[in-house]
Amino acid sequence: MEGEGRVIKSTGSSSLVSSPEAGLTECVISGKYRLEGLRSTNPVVVGDWVMFSIQEGEKLGRISDVLPRKNYIIRKSTKLSKSHQIIASNIDQLMLMVTVVNPVTHAEFIDRYLVTSEAYNIPAILLINKTDLYGETEIMTVEEWRRIYEEIGYVCIECSLEKMVNLDLIKSTLKEKVTLLAGNSGVGKSTLINIIEPSLNLKTREISQSHKSGKHTTTFAEMFELGIGGFIIDTPGIRGFGITDMEDEPLYHYFPELFKVSTGCKYHNCIHVNEPECAVIQSVESGKISLSRYKSYLNLLDEQQNSSKYR
Ligand code: GDP
Ligand code: ZN
Repeated sequence: MEGEGRVIKSTGSSSLVSSPEAGLTECVISGKYRLEGLRSTNPVVVGDWVMFSIQEGEKLGRISDVLPRKNYIIRKSTKLSKSHQIIASNIDQLMLMVTVVNPVTHAEFIDRYLVTSEAYNIPAILLINKTDLYGETEIMTVEEWRRIYEEIGYVCIECSLEKMVNLDLIKSTLKEKVTLLAGNSGVGKSTLINIIEPSLNLKTREISQSHKSGKHTTTFAEMFELGIGGFIIDTPGIRGFGITDMEDEPLYHYFPELFKVSTGCKYHNCIHVNEPECAVIQSVESGKISLSRYKSYLNLLDEQQNSSKYR
């Protein structure tokens, strides 16, 4: 048979393709691919819609084409590396799981992630987990995050997976969507997947064991189908997303609140670092723009400027 399917797992050399007609088919790659102009190291990724075929009586199918991607995200590359690894494609939303303690999620980590979501035009949701552990100080941090991020327009959901708080809201958010789940190791991503889809319990355990055996150092994203409709893409071992291929537009375009006030800067090419009569700096000083966001901006800008020396 020949048909269209979605890649739900890919290890570079072979991919698992899901389609209504054939169920799950393991496929190898043949033919040429559109690479979206990227020096990508992996032609087929999780989330891709592909054309594939399988001969009667055979176990292994062939992917002949990758359909154009609605979007994709790449892995944060090392500064000197020229190739990009695409992590996943055709994503409806990014869900960033964060915790104030156990582990501490730093504001810059959150902002780096949100920049990615802006750059790729994928809506982002902040999921603040482990609220059962929070005392007064931690609650103040949660409130501050809400104040900063909701004001910009990001949805924030507080939850405790341990105490099953706010699960219905999380489920309705995930329903029928392809969601990329991200967050520091230990924040509760696997716990969430296992609660939403208990049947995957075994699978997630298998994956982490195969990682321990240590054959591959590269980790690949995997897509889990949800009974409620939709998919979660898990990104084990992936520390960050790339923001290196977005130099067409200045970085502050991906900080919506900076972008908004930047129309008031004296110089049209102002990058809001030390220019006179900068509306962004004035907004930081008056408290209209959060200092923490502005610091993240400066750090990411610094990183971007340093890395471009090597291009
Ligand atoms: P991952 O690395 O993001 O996949 O994190 P895990 O799902 O493995 O969770 C790390 C640890 O945090 C586990 O021991 C979980 O039981 C625990 N955990 C997850 N959610 C909560 C929560 O809401 N409250 C508390 N106290 N612990 C949690
Ligand atoms: Zn400015």
